[in-house]
Amino acid sequence: MPRKKIVAGNWKMNMTPAETVAFVSKLRPLVDDADADVVLCVPAIDIVPALTSTRGTCIEIGAQNMHYEENGAYTGEISAGMLSEAGVKYVILGHSERREYFHETDEELNKKLKKAFEHGLTPILCCGETLEQRNKGITLDWIRMQIKSDLFGISDADVAEMIIAYEPIWAIGTGMTATSDQAEEVCKAIRECIAEIYDDYTAECVRILYGGSVNAGNAAELFAQPDIDGGLVGGASLKPEFGKIVRYK
Ligand code: PEP
Repeated sequence: MPRKKIVAGNWKMNMTPAETVAFVSKLRPLVDDADADVVLCVPAIDIVPALTSTRGTCIEIGAQNMHYEENGAYTGEISAGMLSEAGVKYVILGHSERREYFHETDEELNKKLKKAFEHGLTPILCCGETLEQRNKGITLDWIRMQIKSDLFGISDADVAEMIIAYEPIWAIGTGMTATSDQAEEVCKAIRECIAEIYDDYTAECVRILYGGSVNAGNAAELFAQPDIDGGLVGGASLKPEFGKIVRYK
């Protein structure tokens, strides 16, 4: 079975609830007949308006983070159970901005992944290297280390259903998109790493995305690579251009 492409938008800390509703109404006709799965990962306050305004469409809603505990005294946090009950299907975990600014560790991410699966959420796990790591030639070692730590103890069945996003940190929000060869090299290595930890079947099922300055002009070439199953899109997901990326062919 060929893997279905998926294009997920990461709005980061952008869009008010009213802007969410207005944006979705413009986006709906642009993605109606998309071949790819379409996901918008929105700020927590926008989840309910996003779910309401996308009802009956092909657009699914994702969160950008969640806590690894079931509930409790964690002021400002949101739980997997809350997201799932609201109707959220996806959750971005381990975005480099959260790793950098909020000091999220691989150990915490491992707990978050387990909790997300427990509640039937599909995680979009991000990994990626800095420019310094790339220049030192340690990109693949670094990515393998992230994948192995984040997935420790997670079942093959769960991994087969999840999404991994390769996002080189130097390409995020910089306009410095990785070349399709650079992106494919790492996405292929991620798939090989999954085959090594689990088996070939699991590696063939898991969807691997590229993220980092994806736009309407470069999506087709990136998504045509054999190990790239779509994209995680930041800046361009805030514009009608996102509709073109979804219909990249
Ligand atoms: C991101 O933040 O996940 C991202 C890929 O951002 P951008 O597309 O703006 O580089």
